[in-house]
Amino acid sequence: TSVLEVRDLHVEVANSDANAEPIQILKGVDLTVRSGETHAIMGPNGSGKSTLSYAIAGHPKYQVTSGSITLNGEDVLAMSVDERARAGLFLAMQYPVEVPGVSMSNFLRTAATAVRGEAPKLRHWVKEVKEALSELEIDPSFIERSVNEGFSGGEKKRHEILQLGMLKPKIAILDETDSGLDVDALRTVSEGVNRYKERENGGVLLITHYTRILRYINPDFVHVFVGGRIVESGGPELADELETNGYVRFTADTAATQ
Ligand code: ADP
Ligand code: MG
Ligand code: MG
Repeated sequence: TSVLEVRDLHVEVANSDANAEPIQILKGVDLTVRSGETHAIMGPNGSGKSTLSYAIAGHPKYQVTSGSITLNGEDVLAMSVDERARAGLFLAMQYPVEVPGVSMSNFLRTAATAVRGEAPKLRHWVKEVKEALSELEIDPSFIERSVNEGFSGGEKKRHEILQLGMLKPKIAILDETDSGLDVDALRTVSEGVNRYKERENGGVLLITHYTRILRYINPDFVHVFVGGRIVESGGPELADELETNGYVRFTADTAATQ
């Protein structure tokens, strides 16, 4: 089993005005995600949820000023983005948004080669891709298109879940996986995540603003994220409370808005 541990994480981002001080966004995040567990991080817009996933992904804009991130005791912060993927972390955002001229098919094989440490055997690979596409109800022609070029929101999300199924990470971090999805796509994407959980006994960190996706993916733990930190943790009942009452109870006594 694997364990991702985030301890007292503080992260700042450079101010767009280069002369101004960097902006502190994460203010002491503590979180432990183990194999087989699904954690939902829920919070209002601007609370720093994506900053958390960028920091775990190793995005250069996000500077960790204190605290630690480890995977099975290994220092994730000392790893390059590629090393993080090889260590078994899946972060959808580490992949480029659009890669004109590179087909999905080549992109996936390159990613799988990097993560597995050897190129998958071609015949086996073709079969693997075919099965993954069919499970996600993705048209086979999709795989010959350039990465994310002209993809709709739903197609991008299916692409993420396709990667998830093929790269078989230990811990997957999925940020706003439900945004921009119609009900059919949401169901297909959720089924992909659930299959990953069952087959790989993967750990999932699902970051979302909405409770909608939690009707399809059952979290074991729910964390409320406000003002750059987790302010409350609980079980699925916490998501039900958020669905009914929103974030008011948690934002009333902080500077966070929206
Ligand atoms: P969430 O995902 O919860 O909506 P984000 O992590 O995207 O929140 O953003 C948290 C705060 O940090 C917001 O106020 C946002 O404007 C700010 N922020 C995030 N990234 C940057 C950046 N690259 N430059 C400046 N401000 C940023
Ligand atoms: Mg946002
Ligand atoms: Mg976000």
